[in-house]
Amino acid sequence: MRMEKPVKEYEIRAHHGMCLAFFEGKGYSDGFVKYMAEIKEALGKDPVVRLVNRTDEICGYCPHNKLGCCDSEEKVGRYDALVFCLCGVEEGIEIRWSIFERLVEQNIISAGKREEVCGDCQWNSICRKPLDA
Ligand code: SF4
Repeated sequence: MRMEKPVKEYEIRAHHGMCLAFFEGKGYSDGFVKYMAEIKEALGKDPVVRLVNRTDEICGYCPHNKLGCCDSEEKVGRYDALVFCLCGVEEGIEIRWSIFERLVEQNIISAGKREEVCGDCQWNSICRKPLDA
């Protein structure tokens, strides 16, 4: 009997849809950057992901992940809530990655609302670059 390989399920924090859109190989540590690049590549294969508002796949190697809780939870939880609201999707939804990417692009980035969501993030200057160019 042929065993089916289990399909890996990804949980992704809603606001990480924006971080991934602008990711250019910078992050909290070398390990974090390497891991984030691997996740970005895996998401390029367009899996179904579950959108969440808690630590996710990407938080795995982050130094801010303290025993499964983000030490900036108040701030990043606010980002997640705004992404869910602006994209019109609910916490826990399972959705193909490319569809979520499009929702983020259309409803937040192209709509000029990115800084309303996460303008106080320490990486804001990276995500501003396309506008400054
Ligand atoms: S800062 Fe918080 S939300 Fe962002 S990757 Fe690290 S643990 Fe996750």
